[in-house]
Amino acid sequence: MIIINVPDNRLLCLLPLPPMNDNMKHEKMKPEMMKGLLSIKSKTFLSPHYISVVLEGEDLKNFKAAEIGDNNKLLIPAKGSKNVVFPENGITGSTAATIIRTYTLRNLDLEKQEMTIEFVAHGDEGPASSWAISAEIGDLLGVMMKKKDKKIFQPADWYLFAGDHTALPVISVLLESMQEDARGEVLIEVHGPGDVMELKHPAGVNLVWLFNQTPGLNSSLPEVFRWTKIPDQGTRFLFAAAESQAVIEIQSFLRENPALKRNEWKAYSYWKLGQSESQSSGERG
Ligand SMILES: Cc1cc2nc3c(=O)[nH]c(=O)nc-3n(C[C@H](O)[C@H](O)[C@H](O)COP(=O)(O)OP(=O)(O)OC[C@H]3O[C@@H](n4cnc5c(N)ncnc54)[C@H](O)[C@@H]3O)c2cc1C
Repeated sequence: MIIINVPDNRLLCLLPLPPMNDNMKHEKMKPEMMKGLLSIKSKTFLSPHYISVVLEGEDLKNFKAAEIGDNNKLLIPAKGSKNVVFPENGITGSTAATIIRTYTLRNLDLEKQEMTIEFVAHGDEGPASSWAISAEIGDLLGVMMKKKDKKIFQPADWYLFAGDHTALPVISVLLESMQEDARGEVLIEVHGPGDVMELKHPAGVNLVWLFNQTPGLNSSLPEVFRWTKIPDQGTRFLFAAAESQAVIEIQSFLRENPALKRNEWKAYSYWKLGQSESQSSGERG
């Protein structure tokens, strides 16, 4: 037994814990897995290339610990099927029966029994995009999520968020969670003027919409990011998420900028042109 003296003169007794075996260590470190089979309650085209899908179902109760803005794994029925097959051992890769794709938890309202996911409609080539375009009320979707301890949002005096259409959900969540007096710049690349949306944001945060009719090619996001004036006073938080090439360019600018510390920015590749998520997951920037 170990006895220590804590500041207010109380004595604290610590009983030694039994040693952990390997299985116990593994269990302790495994993040909590939430999963559920949900069905479409409503589906709305928010713009020509952007679909909001609201899901409902008994299994929503399994997502009590989920954080809006975190990413999840969607289990999409194989082409020609409406069935969702859950992998037997947690999240593994896509199989012939189920395609697994990464999306953002855009909203969760357990009182209203609603989970919202927003999909870029980029055509029929991708199973997730194709599913969202043709899905009907009542269609099934599997959702799996790990409970995360890390927050994507880092409070700061000034923010720079940049993303293409796939980052609209996470950027929308970030904007909605900011303080009213927050200041910063947000750069969002979408297909065209028809895809510009009303986003709730603090008055001191400026929204810049960039257009690119060939997503993944000729993106102006890295260039505009590079020329955005970053204040040298106060704390800063920079976040970028987009197609792999744009993110590689943004990451190299961030790494080479001597005025920025590594803990002031996060930059993620959300997809790679010409490759499915299953093909590119190991090599995206
Ligand atoms: C953490 C994280 C969160 C994400 N959140 C969202 C989200 O909330 N909403 C969202 O729409 N996407 C999101 N994405 C991106 C999404 O996972 C990819 O776009 C995914 O590839 C789409 O799957 P798919 O089955 O439609 O296409 P895939 O089968 O993966 O790809 C098929 C083809 O389509 C191309 N392609 C893939 N995505 C796009 C695109 N957006 N535009 C143009 N061409 C594309 C590929 O290059 C490939 O040639 C997120 C990604 C990550 C890593």
